[in-house]
Amino acid sequence: MNRQRILIVEDEEAFVDALSVGLGAEGFEVIVARDGAEALIQFESSKPDLVLLDLMLPRISGLEVCRQIRRTSQVPIIMVTAKSGEIDTVVGLEIGADDYISKPYRMRELVARMRAVLRRSPEQNEHQRKGLIGSDNPVESHRAIEVGDVRLDPDRHEVTVGGEPVRLTLKEFELLEILLNNAGRVVRRETIIDRVWGYDYVGDTKTLDVHIKRLRSKIEPTPSRPRYIVTIRGLGYKFEHEV
Ligand code: CA
Repeated sequence: MNRQRILIVEDEEAFVDALSVGLGAEGFEVIVARDGAEALIQFESSKPDLVLLDLMLPRISGLEVCRQIRRTSQVPIIMVTAKSGEIDTVVGLEIGADDYISKPYRMRELVARMRAVLRRSPEQNEHQRKGLIGSDNPVESHRAIEVGDVRLDPDRHEVTVGGEPVRLTLKEFELLEILLNNAGRVVRRETIIDRVWGYDYVGDTKTLDVHIKRLRSKIEPTPSRPRYIVTIRGLGYKFEHEV
């Protein structure tokens, strides 16, 4: 079992200490950066499996760090916000974070969120293919799914709209995959959250709404009037089969 490497970006010493001890005890390898500039350098050199990113940082803000990491990487990112940072939280999710957690939080809750975003990350699947972790079974091959102009290839982890490649984060990709696999049918909110974030997900459902919004902005011709991903009030979402 390989240890998953977590990059903690945090400037408050008390949090750094608690996280280092707590996550170490959970079996993670912990690397620490104390400001945004250091975070970007550490990210390049240590290639973490997940980034736990505080928003309020000296030198370069957490939002800017997130934006810069997303230019080159789909690594899972969890934003850490202060209770009052509602607006930043939404912005953070919109620019590509996979989830967020507000201070103060409990270690148990944080670890549950971390495991949920780490599940089925491309890195982990790669380790599995190389036999670095678990499974003797060969990885199943899945066929590409195509509905309208939207095409998703699970093996290559690629999405195109009208033949043009679209860059999706890991969670956006999983979300789109579930909706496409069920094209023409309503997928309930709880089902989506279970499947994409894990049955032990303890966050609120704003995360799902923001991911849907982000996905629409990437694949819909007119995101404010979606023709692919439609909202079924009180139930969930549906990917329109006939468009
Ligand atoms: Ca801070």
